[in-house]
Amino acid sequence: EWRRYSEPIYIDKLRFHPKHFIIPFHYKKYIESVLLPHGLIRDRIEKLAQEIHDVFQNNELHLLCLLKGSRAFFSLLLFYLNKMNIYSQVKCSKPPYMEHYVRVKSYINDTPNSDGKLSIISEDLDCLKGKDILIVEDIIDTGNTLEKFCAWLEKLNPRRVLIASLLEKRTPKTNGIKANFAGFSVPDEFLIGFSLDYNEVFRDLDHICIMNTQALSDFAV
Ligand code: 5GP
Repeated sequence: EWRRYSEPIYIDKLRFHPKHFIIPFHYKKYIESVLLPHGLIRDRIEKLAQEIHDVFQNNELHLLCLLKGSRAFFSLLLFYLNKMNIYSQVKCSKPPYMEHYVRVKSYINDTPNSDGKLSIISEDLDCLKGKDILIVEDIIDTGNTLEKFCAWLEKLNPRRVLIASLLEKRTPKTNGIKANFAGFSVPDEFLIGFSLDYNEVFRDLDHICIMNTQALSDFAV
């Protein structure tokens, strides 16, 4: 039975002017507004880690990072989870959190597109048979990527598959897939920063932001 363990924070109309935050020099002319400052993102991820730890305790859990966009979320989440395990002083003989990296991309004619075929590049994941898996995703937009990826994962016969997503977009194009652990519910806008890219640019920006039309044209491919 499906359960929402972490309800997302509902982000609506509040935007911050970029002048109030440190923006790398190379992005100064491209940021329209800041939607989620880095500190807020960190605090939210720490809470998600606590809620994930509550559900799985110190049992073996396989975390699956969907690259590249989830890199920043995954790495902080794992950092906090490992701290919680260490602080809990439980005597276990094996590390509770195992990490796996999967590159997923949707394509139509070489153009990333949610309706296209999903290309999956990964290490051998046969070890996931009978295991608890947590998919760690940056953002759920239409949900098509996760739907296809979950179908692919089911063939490996895991015991249980749950989803953690930092962001969930409120879009009419959704297929209904939601995360069991969700960080923020965000408006239907194209977001960049904290590993989210626009044509591989902006991944190194700490805050999650909305870019301006100058960026749209300067970084178009
Ligand atoms: P979906 O298949 O749910 O439509 O989209 C999933 C993938 O599309 C995400 O993992 C992400 O890589 C990309 N994506 C969706 N929305 C955004 C966005 O607002 N900004 C960026 N940078 N990527 C997005």
